[in-house]
Amino acid sequence: MHSFHYENGSLHCEGVDLNALAEEHGTPLYVYSKGTILDHYHRLAAAMSDLDCQICYATKANSNIAVLNLLAEEGAGFDIVSAGELFRVEKAGGDSGKCTFAGVGKTRAEIEYALRREIYSFNAESEAEIALISEVACEMGVVASIALRVNPNVDAQTHKYISTGKSENKFGIDFSVIREAYERAAGLPNINIRGLQMHIGSQLTSVSPFVEAVKKVAPLVEELKEKYHIEFFSIGGGIGIVYEDTLASGVKDWWGGEDENPLTIEEYAAQLVPLLKPLGLKIILEPGRFMVGNAGILISEVLYEKHGSAKTFKIVDAAMNDLIRPALYDGHHDIVPLKEPSSESEEVDVVGPVCESGDFFAQNRLLPKLESGDKIGLLSAGAYGFVMASNYNSRPLPAEILVYNNSAHVIRERQSFDDLVRGESIPF
Ligand SMILES: *Cc1c(COP(=O)(O)O)cnc(C)c1O
Repeated sequence: MHSFHYENGSLHCEGVDLNALAEEHGTPLYVYSKGTILDHYHRLAAAMSDLDCQICYATKANSNIAVLNLLAEEGAGFDIVSAGELFRVEKAGGDSGKCTFAGVGKTRAEIEYALRREIYSFNAESEAEIALISEVACEMGVVASIALRVNPNVDAQTHKYISTGKSENKFGIDFSVIREAYERAAGLPNINIRGLQMHIGSQLTSVSPFVEAVKKVAPLVEELKEKYHIEFFSIGGGIGIVYEDTLASGVKDWWGGEDENPLTIEEYAAQLVPLLKPLGLKIILEPGRFMVGNAGILISEVLYEKHGSAKTFKIVDAAMNDLIRPALYDGHHDIVPLKEPSSESEEVDVVGPVCESGDFFAQNRLLPKLESGDKIGLLSAGAYGFVMASNYNSRPLPAEILVYNNSAHVIRERQSFDDLVRGESIPF
């Protein structure tokens, strides 16, 4: 579900009027719905309740400490990809003992930090990394719990930049040599083999690649359980969400929308639980996008209209530095006016002020007529939105707001110009 709807002609997030909110806090502005995040967490947990299942939210999707805090309070663990994320999780009140640490390039300092914080498992992605974890653990006189990330070589059928489970991707250890890698890891000092992990990609819109991967890996899981008494199998994240026609078509509950044939959580569970249950292990899920994607919106104001010879451009005050998904992944975001539109529409490009031709949010898109000063919402911007924002063109990072029922709270202040130059100095 998502919690964005028109009420009295104005787009609301839960019970909060977004026109008023944008007036008060300025634009560009990220707004998240706490109710949506809670709903997604509980739906997923309920769907998997036949399993001993731990949800480790993929922190990188949206790492504001208010978002992490609300998930921590529901009992979520966290999948982290850096020491900085572990710091955030603990700041937010999350339990380091429920953290798994992914990523192909963990540094010695990060390994030390995570060992000190006694994380649940390092999900190791190469033998060189396992050797370093063992070395650091020996120096510190502690035991490191690890899982190996297997690359099952299945096609996730998603954008090439977010496909991670094919043998040409940098992620994980090849399925063909994973047994030997476990063998060698088991021989290293101060290493406790705790599980097996995989993550085949992001924004999967069909359950079949998950099924294929689990089926391929299940016999390996059985073997590892027998041999090393592993206690968990993590099937990663990657559950896709709907980006198109979430609001325009009047689909308030986007589960089961027809156009994008989205992966429903019910179908995900129905197909995967029967494959996972017989393994008799703790199952870890690492959803990121699914948890927060549809819970967020980026609000922007239309600055100018410009008529090119071939196109009409609507120039808005948000840009690729605020939301990079269209430029980076060809990502689609629905664009809706915050004032409920009349039926009149026109074909336009929606572009930002940044000096790059890749700085657009929509091309040749039929949108309701927009005038200078109108505010728009870029929907489904809760995941891989703010977290990927940068200061390119010396644009201060937008503020972030969390809404719950009728209240709104600033969970990150808009950056100031002083923030832009913080830490810089002029030498000599
Ligand atoms: C990014 C990532 C995830 C989350 O992916 P989503 O598509 O956002 O669910 C989970 N696990 C690992 C290891 C990741 O790198």
